Formats: sequence, C-alpha cells, structure tokens
Amino acid sequence: MEKKGITLVVQGRFEKTFLDQMARDIETAFEWPVSVVPLTHDILPFFDATRKQYDANRLLQLVHADYAAGSLKTIGLFQVDLFIPILTYIFGQAQYKGSTGIASVYRLRNEQYGMAGNERLLYERFRKVVIHELGHAFGLIHCHVPICVMRPGTYVEDIDQKKHFFCNKCAAELELALHKD
Ligand SMILES: [Zn+2]
Ligand SMILES: [Zn+2]
Repeated sequence: MEKKGITLVVQGRFEKTFLDQMARDIETAFEWPVSVVPLTHDILPFFDATRKQYDANRLLQLVHADYAAGSLKTIGLFQVDLFIPILTYIFGQAQYKGSTGIASVYRLRNEQYGMAGNERLLYERFRKVVIHELGHAFGLIHCHVPICVMRPGTYVEDIDQKKHFFCNKCAAELELALHKD
C-alpha cells in the first residue's frame, strides 16, 4: 500500500476548531493532506502511578503499532502529562526519520505555571511542538537558529521564543525529504 498523508491521532478532549486549525496548519507546513482520527485505546495501562505521568515511550509504540500503518507520518496528540525515564517531562518526541511521533498539550498550558489560561497561546505552542516532532520524523535534527521551529527547548519560554516555521536551512532539508521517492 502506498503511504500518503499525515494522520493526527487524538487522545482526550480537544475542541473541534483547535483540531481543524491544526490539521490545516500541518498540511501547510508539510504539503501533505492531513486526517484526524480518535485514539480509541484506554491509556490507563500507560500510567505510571509513582510518577503520576504517562509513559511516552510506550504511548509512542502504541500509536506506531496501531495507527501508523497507512500513513506517511502519524502523530499522537495527547492531553496527558508525558515522561521518558531520563527526563522530568517531555512536550513530545518522535522517531528520527521514522513514521511516528507524539505530543502533549499538558505542559503547554499557562495554568500549569500558575498563570491565566490562554487558548491562543496554547494553540501556538502546541503547533510548534507538533511541527517540531514531525520535523524529526522527516529527518530534521535540532537547529540553533533562534527562531527556527527545530530549535530544542526544555521550557515553555523556549517554545515561545521560536516561530512555528523552519529556518532556510531546515526548510531546504525538509523540501528534499518531502520530495524524495
Ligand atoms: Zn527535538
Ligand atoms: Zn533550522
């Protein structure tokens, strides 16, 4: 089967307008049609009771195993707090040059830092995380151009400082990856 398009696999409650906007923005960024499907699995088995967070490596495997087969790239959009063993939390992760990634809004909410909620800012942050992780899946590595979406970041402030698009060098590399085979 020919693999086409990018699939967003959605866990938990996201507003339809939020997802529609994300689908459009991802389509624009990667020049592939985007479809949105719900994650139908119970994710409770991926909850780590000690850390009170969800195991991002295992969730990535789940999305990969059960949702990635028909798509060029697949990314799980989560509401829950994600961790990997070596880090306190992650915003997202992806298989480098692979087909699958995951991202979460959990740590992107202002409320998480004692500030008033801001849906627009939340969307902007999440768009950057999702594009960043898909960038990895398309073979892009971290970039140190301050505004580039491929710049790595540990804190939400790092995400706020960069843009949702690729610098010229990353855009050129992505262009090659998009038009390969
Ligand atoms: Zn990264
Ligand atoms: Zn760059």
